[in-house]
Amino acid sequence: MFEMLAAFGQGCAACAHPVETTRAGLEGRLCLRCRQDLPRGLASITSLPEFIDEGWCLGPYSGLLGGLLRSAKYGGREDVLLNLGELLADHAGARNAPAGLAVEQFDGLTTVPASLVRRLGRGFDPVELLSAKLQHALDAPLSPVLRRGGGASQAGQSREDRLANVRGVYTARTAVAGRWLLVDDVLTSGATASACALALRESGARSVSLLVVAAAGGVRSP
Ligand SMILES: [Zn+2]
Repeated sequence: MFEMLAAFGQGCAACAHPVETTRAGLEGRLCLRCRQDLPRGLASITSLPEFIDEGWCLGPYSGLLGGLLRSAKYGGREDVLLNLGELLADHAGARNAPAGLAVEQFDGLTTVPASLVRRLGRGFDPVELLSAKLQHALDAPLSPVLRRGGGASQAGQSREDRLANVRGVYTARTAVAGRWLLVDDVLTSGATASACALALRESGARSVSLLVVAAAGGVRSP
């Protein structure tokens, strides 16, 4: 009873309007207006970061998804992140996935590692929560091959400033091969995704695709 009252008292997870529903999952945390904006499939990311071959998201960061991600990450709403993970898993799962995202095409699934500061500040790692749902739905084990830092800067080998900036930010713990799928919560400037993709490629990956909840750049709806 008290749990129910507390749930009703929280308001919409995206805009804080009153929520009048008893629905389960993410729908139950949204007001009527925000519920209409829930994505119905994965969108292609049209402005891809360097070293990323293909990318998909649930939608643009500017709308409902940005509101939900901010509420989840800065308001400590782990429940909302788990719901977003479920939604991502639903649309990326075997029955609904776009052709390029068929999970059997990938040799490995990995996430952008969180920095220790971000992890400690929040008490949880948003990307870890998202991918926990995802790996279950895709039946693909997550390989934590990437780590932050630890790589010596190879400035002497880089030809472009861009490359020099991202090289060595992330490194792979082991050698990898084939096609890899990188998972993150949001794509903004693309610098982090580029750095992770470069680390995977330098360790042997042939291609790197990206799956995020929301993208700040161009997206093409299904
Ligand atoms: Zn709302």
